[in-house]
Parts: sequence; C-alpha cells; structure tokens
Amino acid sequence: MSQECQTTLAAAVSLEGCGIHSGRECRVTLLPAETGYGVRFARTDLPGTPEIPAQIASLSEEPMMRRTILRDGDVSVETVEHILAVLHGFGIDNARVEMTSAEPPIWDGSAKELAKLVGQGGVKTLDGSERKVFRVTRPVSFSPEDSPGVEFTAWPSDTLTLTYFLNYDHPVIGSKTVSFCITPEVTEKEIAPARTFCTEEEVAFLRSKGLIRGGNIDNAIVVGRSGILNTELLWPDELARHKLLDFLGDLLLLGLPARGHFTAFRGGHHANAQFIRYLRKEFSQA
Ligand SMILES: [Zn+2]
Repeated sequence: MSQECQTTLAAAVSLEGCGIHSGRECRVTLLPAETGYGVRFARTDLPGTPEIPAQIASLSEEPMMRRTILRDGDVSVETVEHILAVLHGFGIDNARVEMTSAEPPIWDGSAKELAKLVGQGGVKTLDGSERKVFRVTRPVSFSPEDSPGVEFTAWPSDTLTLTYFLNYDHPVIGSKTVSFCITPEVTEKEIAPARTFCTEEEVAFLRSKGLIRGGNIDNAIVVGRSGILNTELLWPDELARHKLLDFLGDLLLLGLPARGHFTAFRGGHHANAQFIRYLRKEFSQA
C-alpha cells in the first residue's frame, strides 16, 4: 500500500452566524495547519487565544445535553460536532478552527454551508508527512451502562463507514437506518445538509433549561405528534442522516481520522463520548 500523507485545508474558510444554545454571534474561521498539528479550536475572543485540541481528553465531564462540549480549564467550546464532522468527512488531518465565542453558528441546523466552502477551498496534501489513523483491528461491541438500549459496534475496514439506527418511541420519528462509506463527496452531498431536529415537547423543555436561545423556526426541524411542523424533509431519512453527521463529528475525538465500520443503535453525544473512550482503551495502538 502506498504511503498516505497528512492533509490540511488548501484555503482558509470563514463563516458567521448565531449559536443555537447561547444565541450569541460567532465567526468561525478554519485555517490550514502544519503536519502534526491535528485539529484544534482557538478562542480568539479570549486573552492569549487559548487552544483546545479536538480529542477525547478535552471532552467535558459535565452532562452533554444535546451537544458536544470540549474544555480546558475555564475555557470551553461547545456544539462543535458539525465542524468536526466536516473535517472528518473531508479527511482533513490538520486544521486550526478559530472562533469568536464559545459556540459556533447553527446556520440552518446543518453543516451544508461549511461543507460547501471546504469543498470549494479544497484539501491539500502535506508532502513528506506520514498519515496516522485510528484503526479498528477486531470486531467489538459496546453498550454504555447509563444509556439503556444504546449499542455500538466497530468492525475492521480500510474505509470509514458509518451506520446509524434511529429508533425513537415517537409516532413521526419511529425507526430509520442510514449507512454511508465516508468520502468528501458523500459528506458534502448526503450528510452535511441534514438538519438537526427536536420534538415539540423538547423545544419547551430545552428553553426551560436555558438552551436553544438562538433556536428559531429556521434552524431545526421541529417534529410534532402528527408530522413535521415547520419545513419539508430533504430526504425521508434526514433525521437519521443528521444523527450520523453528529456521530461522524464525535468520532474525530478519537484524535485521529478513523478507519473501520462503526454502527450506532440510538446513540447521542453522551453515549458517543463513552464509546470513544471505550475505543481508545480497546485499540490503544493508535
Ligand atoms: Zn447535530
């Protein structure tokens, strides 16, 4: 097999908007980075521009209701999974993600715009570098203790393939399965445009917890008891595709691009985090 080189963005990419939970304005700029840099978030609004690496050690211990939070001491970034999904999907090993507040914009609830810009900017090979990947070398399965009914598996594969089983006890959401072999094209066309969603009941609950302050009718699919309330679905399985987008993003917290076939039955960010910790422990060779 020929030696694979590490990659970075061929051009800087910048976008702004409003965070879904904080309601604050944020500009996100993805910058090329050198060999071995990995993916790091940098808070340019704070003195000294502190950095937080995208890896499992940065994952916050606090309960992650509906989002992925990375923390280093007092500094945190949250709801970063869609950015991570685009980087993982495009196979970008090294990138610096500068943010002007703790939470990136929600845009339309998807990663479509970001994926489009990264696709236009292109990916650059860092000549002379050696690519490191997180490789699954034998089949494993895992069920997080505190998430009954959630199950994960990982199988060896030379590609990155993800399968997500959406299974909600809800008359409109119900069950759907999606599976993709991840490439930049699949990421941009089939996964990144899938929007986040919540049920009508969750909207009221999350607001009462001080979340989704920036959420409005344009940036999440709202599911009522008898149908979608505010939009048309892009695909019949759009909700499952969005969960797969989140899974793809969270898996980059392995600290390296993943190689394997990963399946998630009903996983969310909290369960994903436990699965990633488990994988790091099982496959410590990476
Ligand atoms: Zn999401």
